[in-house]
Amino acid sequence: MANLKLSHIYKVYENGHKAVNDFSIDIADQEFIVFVGPSGCGKSTTLRMIAGLETITAGDLFIGDTLVNDMEPKDRDIAMVFQSYALYPHMTVYENMAFGLRNRKMPEEEIKERVMKAAKMLDIEEYLDRQPKAMSGGQRQRVALGRALVRNPKVFLLDEPLSNLDAKLRSQMRSEITALHKSLKTTFIYVTHDQVEAMTMGTRIVVMKLGYVQQIDTPMNLYNKPYNKFVAGFIGSPQMNFFDVTLKREGDNVKALFADGDSITLPYENVCKIDEKYLGGDRKVILGIRPEHLELNRKGEGLRVLVNNIERLGNETIVYGKLGDKEEEFSLKDEGRNIVIKAVVEDDVNTGDVVYAVPNNDKVHFFDSETEITLMEKVPTYNTIHAEADGGKMKLLGKNVALPEVYDRALDGRKDFVLNVSPYAIVKGNDFALKVARIEKVDKENLAYLENGNTYLFAIVDDNVREGDTYKFDIVNDKVDLVCEGEQLLKAIPAEESLLGTFSKTEVKEDGERKLHFFYDINGYKVEAVPDDGYKINSIDGDDCYKNTYRYAVDRDKINVVKGDGLKAQFLEYLDYGNVRYAKVKAGNEELLVNVGEDFDENNVSLVFDGEDVSVYSTKIDMKIC
Ligand code: ADP
Repeated sequence: MANLKLSHIYKVYENGHKAVNDFSIDIADQEFIVFVGPSGCGKSTTLRMIAGLETITAGDLFIGDTLVNDMEPKDRDIAMVFQSYALYPHMTVYENMAFGLRNRKMPEEEIKERVMKAAKMLDIEEYLDRQPKAMSGGQRQRVALGRALVRNPKVFLLDEPLSNLDAKLRSQMRSEITALHKSLKTTFIYVTHDQVEAMTMGTRIVVMKLGYVQQIDTPMNLYNKPYNKFVAGFIGSPQMNFFDVTLKREGDNVKALFADGDSITLPYENVCKIDEKYLGGDRKVILGIRPEHLELNRKGEGLRVLVNNIERLGNETIVYGKLGDKEEEFSLKDEGRNIVIKAVVEDDVNTGDVVYAVPNNDKVHFFDSETEITLMEKVPTYNTIHAEADGGKMKLLGKNVALPEVYDRALDGRKDFVLNVSPYAIVKGNDFALKVARIEKVDKENLAYLENGNTYLFAIVDDNVREGDTYKFDIVNDKVDLVCEGEQLLKAIPAEESLLGTFSKTEVKEDGERKLHFFYDINGYKVEAVPDDGYKINSIDGDDCYKNTYRYAVDRDKINVVKGDGLKAQFLEYLDYGNVRYAKVKAGNEELLVNVGEDFDENNVSLVFDGEDVSVYSTKIDMKIC
């Protein structure tokens, strides 16, 4: 039994190919995690790094509490099952299963006990004397599972174990592996390109594409709340339909207008997480609707569909058609108008018919047409708040509050502006008060819908806030974007600052022993690195590390401003946000913002921070090293 932690794992192959990027996940004991994605997305590479069959370029891998990056595969207490079975052809089933244990010099008696127990669980007792070549694919895969089972590993790794089997056997083995997982109470990590396997077996699924994690979630969340168009299209069969539409708010409704002039109307409540800039009727977005969430009718309600193919499967009928009223020749190329509908048995629909499809209003998805990210994120990225500056004050959310000096300067006389405010930048306070219309549990957080005229303001709130309460809050002035006439005048101040520098080592004699000390060198300031981090940088980049440039990132609140030794900086100006004041300073060629108090001396600025608070990034490829 074991939990696993993958923290910022990268794999760059020797040819420079970046196969896995910044993969992080905490896997609890006894979870069944599935890595899924199209061929080449980095699933097997990740699994092989966990197994120890592939080196980890950067990042940390923990099994239990042990960092195992450099541990031999045989010492990791994991067992791996491959697609190709990897059985020894000249050995019997018994010998195949016993082989690994004999290598570990386990007494024959215990080996026998373990093999017999595993053979019983897998129902292969009667084949123990056979050689693999005299067995079917399904039986061979069971032997491969048995060989893993006898080792009582902490973690099972399975790499496409069912892809050599035919469909019927695959579905049988699927439920057998799920049952095995339940009875063994062990952590399973399973790689597949098949979304049905992923959905039916995983307690959580990691969807990958081109080396990047797209979403980590439960099967139902992936299906109901896909983070982007890729996940939406990958999970579910037949695939989700996608159409280009524009959205326009009309009172309590939102109208989605399709390219051919057809439209559907949704209650605003269903799409209230979509930012107002998408609801003006002038911006293309992608509408997604699954085939099973469209209902057919002949009454002329909904989208007009010209049927061009029908698949009758008995329990359901898949209707393929084309949107719109142009009854032109069929063309496979005309993608934007193709629609697939999964209907309950419909005997009277025929090719050439015109039918109508009504989407289930609760199941419609929208994605940004450029980023392809959902417009209805679990926690919206930001709220759009309209504001007006006047005589040192700003009016927003029905209140007049002080206009921060930084805003005033950025606005330079302009009056109307917009604040893009993250739900995390709305904090308990006194400036504003709105009624809590609804509280939604999002993962472990509470998302409050605050009534703001005919829209909502979203805020992350404490457990003790209730629906119907009046919520009193402040906006964190330095954590918002300020936009005026479409131009971003101010950006939220990020939590981190980063500086370019080099890396060095010195060797010193301590108690007769030679010891290495590593340093981050930033414009003449030397910060001693935590030794493990120093060795890590050295092991990733080799001796090149002493010639490379690195990006050193530090949380702003870990940067102390002192008079004396440190990173010498030159004061440029103050940024006064009212609740917090920063000084903009220049260190070498780089400008940065530091938090300053009353005793700040403009003429004597040095910055200091600890090596353990520094994150190191490669500048050659975008990669976090430690
Ligand atoms: P998947 O298991 O998702 O099909 P892999 O993890 O096998 O994908 O591969 C991810 C990417 O890394 C692919 O583009 C593949 O071509 C590349 N790759 C795999 N092994 C190597 C290697 N030894 N050297 C260079 N590139 C590799």
